[in-house]
Amino acid sequence: MSQLRWVAVAMILALAALMVVLSARTSTTPATKSLTYSQFLSDVAGQKISTVDLASDGTATGALKGGNQYTTVIPVQADSSLLSELQSHGVAIQATAPSASSGWTSLLGWLVLLIPLGLLFWWSSRSLRKAGGVMGGMGAVGKARAQVIDAERPATKFADVAGYEGAKSEIAEMVDLLRNPERYSQAGAVAPKGILMVGPPGTGKTLLARAVAGEAEVPFLSVVGSSFVEMFVGVGASRVRDLFAEARKRAPAIIFVDEIDAIGAHRSVSGAGISNDEREQTLNQLLSELDGFDPAAGIVVLAATNRPEILDPALLRPGRFDRQVVIPLPTQNERLAILKVHCLDKRLAPEVDLELVARATPGFSGADLANLANEAAINSVRAARPLVSPEDFSAARDRILIGRRDGSNVLLPDEKHAVAVHEAGHALVAALSEHADPVEKVTILPAGQALGVTQQLPLVERHLFGEDYLQDALAVRLGGRAAELIELGQGSTGAANDLTQATDLALRMVREFGLSDALGPVSYPVAGSVFLGRGGTELSSRPFAEATQALIDQEVARLVREAEARALSLLQTHRPLLSALVQLLLEQETVDGGAVRALVEGNVVSVLRAG
Ligand code: ADP
Ligand code: ZN
Repeated sequence: MSQLRWVAVAMILALAALMVVLSARTSTTPATKSLTYSQFLSDVAGQKISTVDLASDGTATGALKGGNQYTTVIPVQADSSLLSELQSHGVAIQATAPSASSGWTSLLGWLVLLIPLGLLFWWSSRSLRKAGGVMGGMGAVGKARAQVIDAERPATKFADVAGYEGAKSEIAEMVDLLRNPERYSQAGAVAPKGILMVGPPGTGKTLLARAVAGEAEVPFLSVVGSSFVEMFVGVGASRVRDLFAEARKRAPAIIFVDEIDAIGAHRSVSGAGISNDEREQTLNQLLSELDGFDPAAGIVVLAATNRPEILDPALLRPGRFDRQVVIPLPTQNERLAILKVHCLDKRLAPEVDLELVARATPGFSGADLANLANEAAINSVRAARPLVSPEDFSAARDRILIGRRDGSNVLLPDEKHAVAVHEAGHALVAALSEHADPVEKVTILPAGQALGVTQQLPLVERHLFGEDYLQDALAVRLGGRAAELIELGQGSTGAANDLTQATDLALRMVREFGLSDALGPVSYPVAGSVFLGRGGTELSSRPFAEATQALIDQEVARLVREAEARALSLLQTHRPLLSALVQLLLEQETVDGGAVRALVEGNVVSVLRAG
C-alpha cells in the first residue's frame, strides 16, 4: 500500500526533526562542564567557582575560576544555607527568572515535533475515510447510506397537487392504509403493497408521493433508483436492505423509489458500464424485500418511472407493484388548475387570462407550467412591472418552447425577406385551409434554433385526428417551401425541418393509420427497437417485403407531393395576400393570428364585393 509507505516516510521525517531540535537545544554551549551537586559543593568550598547563575528551574550555570563554564542542578531539597555558603566563598550570585526566549525556543521545538504528527494523523484519517468505499467493508456502506436515503416529513397535501383526480383517489387509498392498517386485516383483505406511477418526467409523481406522506403524516423515505446501482457488486443490494430496515424502524412510513427503471430494468437489458451481476443482485434484493414485508406493518412502497415497458415483469407481479397508476401529461383543464396553484403567490394583472395560457401550452408538464409561471414573474421583475402581465406569460412560454430569445436580429436583410416569405407561406396555408388549426402568431424574430416561427393553436384539445385534418397539416408544413418557390423562384435550406416533419407524418399516415389506398388498411409499424432488448413480439418485428417497402416509399412521396401541390395552388391563387403578409411581417416582425385572419377575411369580402 503506497499509503503505508507515506506514513512511514513521514514518521522518519518527524523523528529526524525531533533529534535535530533536541541536539540543538543541548549543544548551544560547547565548552561546558557538567558537575554533580556534590562536586559543585566541593568546588565552592575549594574556591574554584567564580560566578553562579541560578535559574528558577533549579539548574545553575556559571564560570569556573579557570574561565570554563559549568552547569549543575541544585536539588530542590537544598535550602537557603547554600546561598550564605556561596556568599562566604565569594561567588558572584545571579538569579534568572524563566527567560522568555528559552520558553519560545522550547515551544518552537514542540511545534516542530507536533506539526508533522498532526498532519500525519489528519492525512491518514482522511485517506482512510476516502478509501472507505473500497476498504471499509460494511461499515462504509452503512455510512454512504445517509446520503442516499432522504427521510423527512413533508407538509405537502393533496390540495397542492392540481388535477389528476383519478390518480389521486387511487393513491389516496394508501393514506387510509397507512393510518389504520388493521382495517384491512380485519376485513380479510390483503392490502396493496406498492403502487407504480407511470408518466413522463415533471408530471408530479414525486409531488403525489409526498402528498401521500403529508396526508398520512408519516415519514417519507425517498431514493433514486440510479443511486443503488454502483460499480461494486453487492453495494446496491445492501442499500436496498438498509432502506427497508430503515423504513421498518420508522413504520408507518412511505418508501418512494424514483426512476425505478434504473434497478428494475428487464433482466435481459444489458446496462452499459455497469455489471449485470450488480443490477441483478439489487433487483433480487428489492423483490425479496417486497415479498418479505407485511403490509400490516404500515410500509407502503411508491415507485415512479417513465419507461414502464423496460421494467422486469417480476416487479409487476401481484404482491409487488400490483397497482399501476398512469400520470399522463396534464389536459387543458388540468393545466389551468396547475397554473392556478402556481400563480397563487404571484401578483397577476387582471387582464391575465390563465385559461388562454393553458390553451397555449399543450404538451407542457406540471413542472414546465411551474417553470412558466416563475419565468413570467421573473420577466415582470426584469421589466420593472408591479404585476405579471399577459406579455410576460407569452415571453416565458416562448423562452421555454424555443429557447432564449435573441435581443438582436442577426439576419441579413435578404435572409430576413426569405424568412418572412417562408413563415407567411405557413401562416397563409393554415389560414386558408378549412381543417387546419388556427394561426396564433407568426414571427420572423430568430429564436433558439428557428429563424422564424408560425404557431398554431388548436381550438379544442384533440385526441383523434381525421384524414382531412392530417392532410391540411401536411399542406401547412409544406407551405413555407411553397411560398419560397413562388416568391423567390427557388427552395432553401430553411425548409429542412418542415420536410422531415411532413415526411414523418406522411409515413405514419401510410404505415400506421391506413390512409393510403394503395396499401389499404394494413399496419406496417416500425420494428421494435433492439435497444429495448425485447425484440421478438410478432407484431413489432414483422418483416415486410421489399416490394411493400417500395410501395410505402411511393405512397409517402405521393402524399407529400400532393400536399405541396395543394399549398402551391392555394398560395398562387392568393398571391396578393402572400405579398401583403410578407410586407406586414417585414414591418412588424411579429403578426398575431387575428391580423392574419383579418387579412384573409378582408380579402374574401373584397373578392365577394368585386364578384
Ligand atoms: P416527477 O416526479 O413526475 O418528475 P415532480 O413531482 O418532481 O415530477 O414535479 C415537479 C414539479 O412540478 C413539482 O414540484 C410541482 O411544482 C410541479 N407540478 C407537477 N405536477 C403538478 C401538479 N399536478 N400540481 C401542481 N404542481 C405540479
Ligand atoms: Zn417552416
